[in-house]
Parts: sequence; C-alpha cells; structure tokens
Amino acid sequence: MDTSILLIYTGGTIGMKIDPQTQALAPFDFSHILEEVPELMKFGYKLDSYSFDPAIDSSDANIPFWRELARIIEENYDKYDGFVVLHGTDTMSYTASVLSFMLENLDKPVVFTGSQLPIGMLRTDGKENLISSIEIAAAKDDEERALVPEVCVYFESQLYRGNRTTKYNAENFRAFRSANYPVLADVGIHIRFNPELIRYPKWGKKFKVNYDLDPNVAIVKVVPGMNINMLSILTKVEGLRGVILETFGSGNAPTNNEFLGAVRELVDKGLIVVNVTQCHAGRVDMDAYATGIALKNIGVISGEDSTIEAALAKLYFLLGKYSENSDIIEGLKKNIRGEISK
Ligand code: ASP
Repeated sequence: MDTSILLIYTGGTIGMKIDPQTQALAPFDFSHILEEVPELMKFGYKLDSYSFDPAIDSSDANIPFWRELARIIEENYDKYDGFVVLHGTDTMSYTASVLSFMLENLDKPVVFTGSQLPIGMLRTDGKENLISSIEIAAAKDDEERALVPEVCVYFESQLYRGNRTTKYNAENFRAFRSANYPVLADVGIHIRFNPELIRYPKWGKKFKVNYDLDPNVAIVKVVPGMNINMLSILTKVEGLRGVILETFGSGNAPTNNEFLGAVRELVDKGLIVVNVTQCHAGRVDMDAYATGIALKNIGVISGEDSTIEAALAKLYFLLGKYSENSDIIEGLKKNIRGEISK
C-alpha cells in the first residue's frame, strides 16, 4: 500500500511567498504546495493537504485551535500513515506540548515543522524542513510500524520530542532547543534515528483524543525583589486552579515570610502550585537547598526537568481531566508523555 501523509497547514512563515505585484509577503494557497515545492513529487507518496482557513499567526494559538487541529488528526487518523503539521515557530513548542497530551495511544508520527524564512524565498529553510519532516513521518520499520510514533518537532536537521522543545532563537535557522532530552533523530546524509530515545506505544490500542483542557493556569516568574502582591492577587482570580512558579536554579525562591506566606495562601486556597526552573537546562530539586525545602513543605509540586511549555500543557490537560487535586498532583508526578525524566 502507498505511504500516505497528510500535510496540515495552520499558518506561519513557512506558507508565505512574495507577492510579485506588491513585493510583500503573503500566505499562498497551500493546496498548491506541489507547485511551490515540486521536489515533493519525487517521494512517490500520497500527499494530501489541509489548510486552516484562515491560516493563523501562531501567536493566536489557543484552546479552540488545538481542539480543531486534534479533530483533523482524529478524523483522518485511519487514512494516513503520518501527519506533518506546518505551524508558526513562535508557539510551536506550546502546540506540540499540548497535542502530545491530547493525543492518546498515538502510534503514528505527528511532526511539527515550520521555517524562519518563507518557503517562497531563495534561502528558505522551509524546503528542507518540510521534505525531511515528510520523510520522517513516512518512516517505518520492517513490520510496517512508524519509526517515530510521537508528537515531535523537526527543525534544521534535528528531530526533537515536541514536549521537550523551546523556541530559543528568533533569528537563527536552528530556532529550537531540547535542553533536557537528546534528539530523536539527526539528519545529515542519512537520517539517524535514536530508537532507544523514542517512546513506543502499546501497539494496537485505540487512538483517542482528550479534548478537555482547562486553561485556568497562571505563570509567575520569580524575580529578586518582586512585589509579593503579584502573587497574592492570584487568590482573587476567579476560576484559577493552577500556578506555575518559574523559580531560580534548582527550584529556589525567596525565603522571606512574606513570599512563603503568599505561596502558602495559594496552596491553602486549593490552587495547584508547580515549581519549574527558569534555567534553560537542568531540573528542580526541592531537597537541595533550604529554600526549595520550604516550598516543598508548603505543598508545592516539583515540575522536575520540564519546560515551561510542557508544564503548562500538562496542567491544561490534567485540570481538564480531573476535578480532585489529589488526582492532578498524582498526574503531575508521573511521566505521562516523556515530558519529564524520572
Ligand atoms: N509569527 C510567525 C508565527 O509564529 C513566525 C513563524 O512562522 O515562524 O506564526
């Protein structure tokens, strides 16, 4: 049977070209992708495309958008061997993280990619990103099983687990980083997959989508000398259920009574408080310093070595799934989709 891949164009730089009349960048009709990148025909795969209408700048990604994207994947799940999602780079790591939790028992690749320069420009990075993403989405083992049945991000020769990525460079072609987890594949002359790092599902389990997400989460970056009111005001936000504290180093924060009192107030009010480091690499260890121990004693939960994007996505997912705090806390401690190292 022919290999079939669905390209889902959501928006972003990759799907733009210069309008010859105005010389301005404008989105092109993505159903004409084969005219823009005729090289794709050489694959010999069945390549279909679906475009969001209107295409969005990824700054506008939100819960309805994620649900729509997941719905398109669900509707087409049995018809295709893999999915390549073209997405703006700005929030690609958020979308990949959220989708990783929404898509359950995933046994096909969902590869996110995009570009820093539009596909219609001479020096574009979009063509290579698109072509390699398709090849990765189509890759199968001898038993016809997907080589990378994960939600991943492919960019500039590297394939990452999606929920481990962060956009860290607004200019370079290498725009993403996965500081706490090695790449799933390296692309050079050959595509070198790292199967020992890839998560494989229990094959044959029914694929399903978790549509329930709850966005009632605030992120507070802890800074030296911060105004504690910024924290205590959160007890007054109606409907708020979770707070991510972006802490220093291995999960440290001020030790003064005012700060700790404000955190305690959040926990006492029934909010789930998660500790994620503002460092780009490494993990939270709330046993290392007195400051971390103080947070742990109050009931703050460690975000381990999670990215901010993945911690947020995990909370959206767990808050959508459970109403009891004990279930949410239990879920936070588990490695659900490879988002933390345990
Ligand atoms: N602003 C664009 C977006 O994220 C940038 C890009 O596509 O890379 O949609």
